[in-house]
Amino acid sequence: MSETVAAGKVVHMHYTLTNPEGETLDSSEGREPLAYLHGASNIVPGLERQLSGLAVGAHIDAVVSPAEGYGERNPNATHVLPKSAFPEDFPIAVGTPLALQGEGEQVLHCFIVAVKEDQVMVDANHPLAGVTLNFSVDIVEIRDATDEEKTHGHPHGPGGHHH
Ligand code: ZN
Repeated sequence: MSETVAAGKVVHMHYTLTNPEGETLDSSEGREPLAYLHGASNIVPGLERQLSGLAVGAHIDAVVSPAEGYGERNPNATHVLPKSAFPEDFPIAVGTPLALQGEGEQVLHCFIVAVKEDQVMVDANHPLAGVTLNFSVDIVEIRDATDEEKTHGHPHGPGGHHH
């Protein structure tokens, strides 16, 4: 009986992610295949849905809308901070992630998107929010997840978590 992608399976895949302009954003090329636990939200929902039912050796070009990817952009999620709000040794540069302490326990994960004189603009949108994602995927291996992997919600070993 051949394995197919389903909940509770660890799937190893090679993938290339490109944006609508054809630029490669991420790829497993030259690395070991990425391993993920199907049904555990390890990957964006639109890709997980389209991989479901595929067998080893399958190739798919999956188009994932922002709604099923990293979400639509929230135009109100940008904030301008004074440079003086940052510690002296903080590497202020476009693309640097940072966590802002909000009200109480709330932490806002942001990226620096612009730096001007004494101001720093940060954006709490995921960098790929609002972007249609094109995944080219090859299914390399499918196996049953161990009980430990199911408990952790992610695969262990090659291509997965090491801890
Ligand atoms: Zn683990």
